[in-house]
Amino acid sequence: MFGICLILLAAALNVGWILLNLREAALLVFGVIFFAVIITGLVLNTIFLIREIRRNEQHDAFLNSITHELKTPIASIKLYLETLKTRNVPPEKQNEFYDVMLADTDRLLGTVEQVLQASRTREKKRQINISEIDLRSMINESIDIIRTSRNLDAAAIRFTEPADAVKVLGDAAELQSVFINLLDNAVKYSDSEVKIEVDVTTLDRGRAVVRVKDAGIGIPRGQLKRIFKRFHRVPMPVMKRIKGTGLGLFIVRSIVEKHGGRVFAESEGEGEGSTFTILLPRSGAR
Ligand code: ADP
Repeated sequence: MFGICLILLAAALNVGWILLNLREAALLVFGVIFFAVIITGLVLNTIFLIREIRRNEQHDAFLNSITHELKTPIASIKLYLETLKTRNVPPEKQNEFYDVMLADTDRLLGTVEQVLQASRTREKKRQINISEIDLRSMINESIDIIRTSRNLDAAAIRFTEPADAVKVLGDAAELQSVFINLLDNAVKYSDSEVKIEVDVTTLDRGRAVVRVKDAGIGIPRGQLKRIFKRFHRVPMPVMKRIKGTGLGLFIVRSIVEKHGGRVFAESEGEGEGSTFTILLPRSGAR
């Protein structure tokens, strides 16, 4: 607002000045150039200011969600430990408590690992361990991990496997975290029933295509590109209930681009489900 007022003020002053000094052509030219420089400066200043404000808002939202993601499992573990210490808990109940505490520590580790990975992917010169990876088996493994961690039945995720192995060159741990992030989001943002379809195909012999399609809350058109930015979460009312750090897709994009690939999202809009597509260069293909 302040920037816009300044721009208007500068324009008014300049027009007045030009009208008063019509005959002094040299000064007029100089004035016009000077004016253009001031206006450019003000416009740039306003753009940077708005960007900075947006970034601050995103940092605040990130801090809120990360605090929640760290605090909830810690509070839960503390409660179970206190109960075990102060009460006589029967052995079968104790086992149940240990399982919950283990699940909570997994959640804590997952959050910490995500934050570390987000800062690691920003290091440009980081070494990666390249090997030849069969996408078919890696995606099968990732689906098994998500099925177990999210307690899903076999029908929740359907994988259409390619007839032949589809191989890419890359860092196995990093690529696996890409698929796990996408599958985990597909489950997390499926509002009621989890119905996910995954397929691996090839495009023009040189590229592998992995598609993860869900029938969840969907993504508004204007947000399809922004969701890959660090800390960005789509501002929808349902997001208050579904927690997250806004780092997952940033990590996905950084890793995929580092492997010479591309990732994009498609959705018909809110409530219409989403599809994420990854293109990766195939190994041995020219
Ligand atoms: P988060 O920790 O918030 O899940 P991500 O970086 O993984 O962070 O995703 C960024 C945002 O993109 C999410 O907050 C959500 O708004 C949106 N999003 C990601 N995946 C999906 C999906 N499968 N369906 C709908 N929205 C999604």
